[in-house]
Amino acid sequence: MSDAIEAHMDETRRVAPPAEFAKHARIHDRSLHDEAEADFTGFWMKRALEEITWTKEPTVSLNDANPPFYKWFEDGELNLTYNCLDRHVEAGGGDKVAYTWIGEPGDERVITYRELLADVERAANALKDLGVGKGDRVAIYLGMVPELPISMLACARIGAIHSVVFGGFAASALADRIQDASCKLVITGDGAWRRGQIIPLKDIVDEAVAMCPTIENVLVVRRTEQDVAWTDNDIWWHDALAAAAPNCPPEPMNAEDVLFMLYTSGTTAKPKGIVHTSGGYLLGAILSHQWVFDIRPDDVYWCTADCGWVTGHTYVVYGPLANHTTGIIYEGTPAHPTWERHWEIVHKHKVTIYYTAPTAIRALIKAGPEAVEKYDVSSLRLLGTVGEPINPEAWIWYHEHVGGERCPIVDTWWQTETGSIVLSPLPGLSTTKPGSAIGPLPGMKPVIVDEQGAEVATGDGGYLTLQRPWPSMLRTIWGDDQRFVDTYWNRFGNTVYFTGDGARTDHDGDIWLLGRVDDVINVAGHRISTTEIESSLVGHPAVAEAAAIGAEDPIKGEMIAAFVILRDGIDQSEELRADLAGHVATDIGKFAKPSLLLFAPDLPKTRSGKIMRRLLKNIAEGKELGDATTLRDPAIIQTIKADADRQMGR
Ligand code: AMP
Repeated sequence: MSDAIEAHMDETRRVAPPAEFAKHARIHDRSLHDEAEADFTGFWMKRALEEITWTKEPTVSLNDANPPFYKWFEDGELNLTYNCLDRHVEAGGGDKVAYTWIGEPGDERVITYRELLADVERAANALKDLGVGKGDRVAIYLGMVPELPISMLACARIGAIHSVVFGGFAASALADRIQDASCKLVITGDGAWRRGQIIPLKDIVDEAVAMCPTIENVLVVRRTEQDVAWTDNDIWWHDALAAAAPNCPPEPMNAEDVLFMLYTSGTTAKPKGIVHTSGGYLLGAILSHQWVFDIRPDDVYWCTADCGWVTGHTYVVYGPLANHTTGIIYEGTPAHPTWERHWEIVHKHKVTIYYTAPTAIRALIKAGPEAVEKYDVSSLRLLGTVGEPINPEAWIWYHEHVGGERCPIVDTWWQTETGSIVLSPLPGLSTTKPGSAIGPLPGMKPVIVDEQGAEVATGDGGYLTLQRPWPSMLRTIWGDDQRFVDTYWNRFGNTVYFTGDGARTDHDGDIWLLGRVDDVINVAGHRISTTEIESSLVGHPAVAEAAAIGAEDPIKGEMIAAFVILRDGIDQSEELRADLAGHVATDIGKFAKPSLLLFAPDLPKTRSGKIMRRLLKNIAEGKELGDATTLRDPAIIQTIKADADRQMGR
């Protein structure tokens, strides 16, 4: 556990749900929890029939005959886009705004449900015209433009499997993901706006596609008007849509047909393609979105996540659209053109629900309360956070300065693998505590266990497990069932899902997350594997050995610190230091670039040869080094520490 998190835990601070909020909230008692505890498969089945419009209603809820390969609603048939779009239009809700999209340069586009459906149908036909069909994989590599959700939905319309790759990934990381899934098509843009600059998406795709023989075509959205190289296999999005037929009936999908895969980092260098299927995923998205955000018909809901991450999938696209919500999409970062940007948008569009990452909140705090005070943000009624633990100081600032002490805060814990929120306060019911994700949504069964799998005592830290299947759970890792079993279901038996997170409960039974227990770092809410960084570094000709660790960072939560041993005959230099950090950025993406890169004559290892990661962390954080008597060569440490302190200006 991070010492900082432990020090911050303060179970005595409580914020009860505001009376006015609780009075109107969807959930203000525990009857749904009780119903789910009494019969959880019946509970999910009832909701599946109520919330989803099926072309063929399921008759079975859970099939648990072959754990951990669980199936949900397996004889049901549906199409997600019908649930997200057509059914609202058919019910007379076509004129409701689905998205107000705001471009980074300030341009805006308002898209109604009817218009979104029309765009999705045309895009779906364009995909078909390019030979994409049910089960084919499509990589999507775009900035946050409307064409991103439209592409995802167009795939879902025809049963193609989307694999969205965050636009910050570098060409080789994109190529790895395309190759792993044998994608047929990439949808990208001529460029993407980010912090006032253009990211040359098409150039990056061209570099990646050169390594990917399965790609037949590249569909290119025009966004930045920048010149791009062109081949016969490239097609402009607008040309393809103009040539496509307008109507595309939704493809009936089995509930267990794959909807999408999304790559995430694990403890090895190879990213995992997390597979989600159609029926259970949609149910998890719909219900969690309703319950946690207390969605009402007139809400203006803003989840600031990029669709390159799972939060964007579930809480920008599928959950909100299936619930007929009006959403905001902002193309840029909160920092551009100034740190006031988000508050200006909240003010102008009268946003009622705002859901973001603790990293963004910490950065906004740095800009000072004046940035938010300049705007009227009184339209807000509910705030959320996701992606990493929130430190209580940030929570309290958010509560006071953004929420005016009247908005409940939902600290939502979940993962790419869980598909939807698992732990969160329920805004009309839960007494919140700054830094705690409180407890499970109805139907979920989190249990904190020790090494042997036995439940730990109240107050003790342990491994967070989920001990009951849930509809939106991952089904496998693309192409690697064995890795799926080994990663998540081996540690405590094949019916216990191992999350990779540590947690503990307090005396009220509320849950506090304690960070990852594996070699995964969470930088600004992005999951990065230390092994991925290490293997990138040793791929550089100057490097003999490398170790990467996560160290505390006041804004990003964690920063990456890398320790590098150079090959014989190679000299340390500031140029090489910059070159190595740049190498990781080119290999994986800028967000994976080490903030601290240290040359080490040797890595501190125990006498049995294990790298002492705790010691490396202390060096990076400028802390006391503690007992180093088990080291092979204690003098090494002082050299590395002196360099670290100099780099960090200590
Ligand atoms: P991802 O799959 O990229 O969304 O990352 C999931 C991981 O982010 C989890 O395993 C946690 O380590 C971390 N995480 C997500 N939400 C929270 C939260 N509310 N509190 C603490 N950690 C979180």
